[in-house]
Amino acid sequence: MNSVNTSHVSRRDWLQHVLQATAGASLLGSPLGLMAATPAAGHVVVLGGGVGGATAAKYLKLMNPALKVTVIEKNRTYIRPYGSSEVLNRHATMGELNVSYDKLARNYGVNFVFDTVTGFDPQAHTVSTAGGRKLRYDRLIVSPGIQLMYSAYAGYSEQVANSRVPSGWIPGAQTALLAKQLQGMRQGGTFVLAAPPNPYRCPPGPYERAALMAEWFAKHNPRAKVIIVDPKDSFVTDETMLLGWNRLYNFNLPDDYAKKMSSQVEVTQHATAGNLTWVRGKDGGRTLKVDAKAMRISTEAEDIKADVINVIPPMKAGQLAFTLGLTDGTGWCPVHRHNFASTLHPHVHVIGDASVADAMPKSGFSANTQAKVVARAIIEELAGRTPDANPVWENTCYALAGKDYGLFVADVFRLKDGKITRDNGTERYLPLNATPAQIKLGARYQQAWLRTFTEDCFA
Ligand SMILES: Cc1cc2nc3c(=O)[nH]c(=O)nc-3n(C[C@H](O)[C@H](O)[C@H](O)COP(=O)(O)OP(=O)(O)OC[C@H]3O[C@@H](n4cnc5c(N)ncnc54)[C@H](O)[C@@H]3O)c2cc1C
Repeated sequence: MNSVNTSHVSRRDWLQHVLQATAGASLLGSPLGLMAATPAAGHVVVLGGGVGGATAAKYLKLMNPALKVTVIEKNRTYIRPYGSSEVLNRHATMGELNVSYDKLARNYGVNFVFDTVTGFDPQAHTVSTAGGRKLRYDRLIVSPGIQLMYSAYAGYSEQVANSRVPSGWIPGAQTALLAKQLQGMRQGGTFVLAAPPNPYRCPPGPYERAALMAEWFAKHNPRAKVIIVDPKDSFVTDETMLLGWNRLYNFNLPDDYAKKMSSQVEVTQHATAGNLTWVRGKDGGRTLKVDAKAMRISTEAEDIKADVINVIPPMKAGQLAFTLGLTDGTGWCPVHRHNFASTLHPHVHVIGDASVADAMPKSGFSANTQAKVVARAIIEELAGRTPDANPVWENTCYALAGKDYGLFVADVFRLKDGKITRDNGTERYLPLNATPAQIKLGARYQQAWLRTFTEDCFA
């Protein structure tokens, strides 16, 4: 076991020693043994045990097992949003979305408090909870995720979403309700998915959800229609996703896309278009109103009578970020980009979907990579060193156009003029001329990523 006599070294040297020693120790899988031998090197409290919070807690302990790390999370089990659309087409069960916190506690010594955070005192460095707890912190990490702005559309509300027109963009009971509605939809019925405006959690997600249902209906309800109504005219991964729809569901590409893409790939326009339709913003796809009783959705272009409606409303930072005063007029949390420290409160770092991260998408992968950069920055700051002023972040979003049709966007980000900027040129997507084997591999990568990513965050 590593040990050091702290009476003969400065605090800074001692922390340096601990960092070096523990890096090796954690690789050997014995961080807890070392923690018992060293005094706490500070207390980091993490609010929210989703992707960002869990990853930050784990990596703080990996980088310095002597640090005390406490996650305050309102739910005992995390329901992962990523991969949750696969419940709708029976690729996964609701139970398979559940992720336990046991391994983070057992393997790394992360403390968990299951309670709802209600406020904090930035002067006293304390966080308070609904259960009456008060925890003191040296550094605070907040990763509260998103909230859905149900009231953005006339006739829509959380109550309507819980009972008749689910969203399910924060997974849970609404996901199960939507799955039941879709799987039980009458033969030849119509499913309308209302895509959200930018910025939103998981840019390819709404289109993947529509595609998975188009595939499922082709088998179980072949005359069913899928209509995406969208306030936008484009989305990340659009060309590869639309090509997948074109090949799998006889989707006819909009003329501008067909023209753009035909220089790279042979595009077939089908004499009879399939049952998947995408109504873009410029064609009046923006949602205005939802009538849950009549099961009707009104867009700028038309009123559509539907059997199942899935509204993915506009989003803003999770309520906790507002409660703690971490948001600005945009509804998101401004941060110093190099270490995601809040520009509004010192010693508080905001990561994940709630933060303003410029070119980085609101994705689990982004939250995970931000968490690692912030963990490193906090370790350095607590040790009296200056954190890296030029960190590198990454994101890869895998998506499915069908069960065996995978695609992706992969980016590297660096700071440029104070903003997080993409730094990997134009090669971001699965090429349009990818071979069938590469496309199938993309789907396998997506499934492997779901598993390994969950391990990286939570185990
Ligand atoms: C259908 C779908 C598919 C997706 N697919 C992908 C994908 O393929 N790849 C990808 O990278 N991303 C994907 N995502 C996005 C990804 O899931 C999110 O970006 C990610 O979960 C964000 O992490 P976070 O930590 O910011 O928020 P979350 O993971 O939502 O965590 C927030 C946590 O904070 C807790 N919390 C909130 N308020 C309080 C409070 N007051 N007190 C205590 N705890 C609180 C919540 O309970 C929650 O556990 C997908 C999302 C959806 C909906």
